Amino acid sequence: MSNTSFSPIHIVGGGLAGSEAAWQIAEAGVPVILHEMRGVRGTDAHQTDSLAELVCSNSFRSDDATANAVGVIHAEMRLANSLIMACADRNQVPAGGALAVDREGFAIAVTETISAHPLITVVREEVTGLPPKEWDLAIVATGPLTSQSMAKAIQAETGEDQLAFFDAIAPIVHRDSIDMDICWYQSRYDKVGPGGNGKDYINCPMDQEQYHAFLDALIAGDTVGFKEWEGTPYFDGCLPIEVMAERGRETLRHGPMKPMGLTNAHNPTVKAYAVVQLRQDNALGTLYNMVGFQTKLKYGAQAEIFRMIPGLQNAEFARLGGLHRNTYIQSPVLLDKTLTLKSRPGLRFAGQITGCEGYVESAAIGLLAGRFAAAERMGTQPVAPPATTAFGALLSHITGGHLMSEDEPGKRSFQPMNVNFGLFPDLEPGSIVRPEGLKRFRGKDKTIMKRQLMSKRALTDCSRWLAEG
Ligand SMILES: Cc1cc2nc3c(=O)[nH]c(=O)nc-3n(C[C@H](O)[C@H](O)[C@H](O)COP(=O)(O)OP(=O)(O)OC[C@H]3O[C@@H](n4cnc5c(N)ncnc54)[C@H](O)[C@@H]3O)c2cc1C
Repeated sequence: MSNTSFSPIHIVGGGLAGSEAAWQIAEAGVPVILHEMRGVRGTDAHQTDSLAELVCSNSFRSDDATANAVGVIHAEMRLANSLIMACADRNQVPAGGALAVDREGFAIAVTETISAHPLITVVREEVTGLPPKEWDLAIVATGPLTSQSMAKAIQAETGEDQLAFFDAIAPIVHRDSIDMDICWYQSRYDKVGPGGNGKDYINCPMDQEQYHAFLDALIAGDTVGFKEWEGTPYFDGCLPIEVMAERGRETLRHGPMKPMGLTNAHNPTVKAYAVVQLRQDNALGTLYNMVGFQTKLKYGAQAEIFRMIPGLQNAEFARLGGLHRNTYIQSPVLLDKTLTLKSRPGLRFAGQITGCEGYVESAAIGLLAGRFAAAERMGTQPVAPPATTAFGALLSHITGGHLMSEDEPGKRSFQPMNVNFGLFPDLEPGSIVRPEGLKRFRGKDKTIMKRQLMSKRALTDCSRWLAEG
């Protein structure tokens, strides 16, 4: 099969992540055995046997590397010789500022390139358990629709509650877009709790009229249905906000929007009729999630309705809410900084199963897992990309940047995440300065400049990391 002296690295799953990981490893000179079950066993969403099939949209989202985090990760992947980006670029179809692809041409290009690589062997089979120890170095990239046998094996290794079968995502808001002249910091009943300081939540107050108008909008909002094979995964404590609203006009006021134990710092004598709480989502403190606001509302409806909440009128969403069938592990607890399962040295995870979200992010995490595994096989220490890069920002979030829920011990709080600027460390103080000759320098201009500077920093640091690696 190969003329290298290295023994092969095994990859389970030939989707976006597994294909990219295989390419990175093989290009480093290490042989790969890629196990993909399609061909002998399908999933509920894939339609073909091609590697890297896009199961839904044909868009890789924004390709703007100057001021968009997705565009920046595209650019970093191109710098890192990404197969997924090369095949996407070769099969691009017109889509404005987005990178969209001819899905069939794209998947065929990936399949042919992988199959033709002298160091890659594709085996069509379902791997029904965790990679055996004799495989030594392996990557599990089985995706959101991981086969049942593999999911059971992961649960047996990590513990049952460490693998989720659905995500229940509440919207996440950029902290600097929340109006703190209306909102205030306070934990309910000023509880300090483990790791807190009594001011851990951002609170948005509503009066009676605002509450009822908000409820009406929630009930009237357009929702996305579940696919037949997804079932209806509602479980206790995780109902979509609009379903709770439909159950009665007081349900939310006694649930996630209860005002008890909270005093409006801007207006202490007037009791809020209802309160929306946001909890810090990342260690950097740049992102806050809307507590209890998992939802099936369409994205457009979410942005419109949630901006009715006082204090969120200008909210910028790092991600909107959703409920989907999705298999993913509690990566911040289970994985180390190079995506290795802490309990099984040599075994890495990659792609959507690690809790990243989206084609591009899955492929990017596959790229990193591949490079880390290849470095390990070649006897060098894998080096993670700096947190200032889009690669590093996403990786840091997955492997520890997300804050686990401390006030609700045992509760799973890690939910899948797209790449976004809220995951990047802030710029050096004083970086954002009004350009000479510009009369007005508004908040919006500052945000654009911040994104541009973060993008530039990311690409410079990524080039340096790749040159050193
Ligand atoms: C229905 C649906 C729609 C989505 N739509 C979008 C979208 O529009 N845009 C977007 O950006 N993201 C979307 N996603 C999210 C996600 O980014 C994609 O699913 C992406 O393909 C994930 O990449 P991956 O490599 O982690 O998993 P996949 O691309 O799913 O690859 C995993 C591979 O592992 C194989 N496999 C599973 N179990 C085994 C096993 N035991 N042995 C061997 N092989 C196995 C599967 O057959 C599959 O080929 C969607 C997800 C789903 C489920």
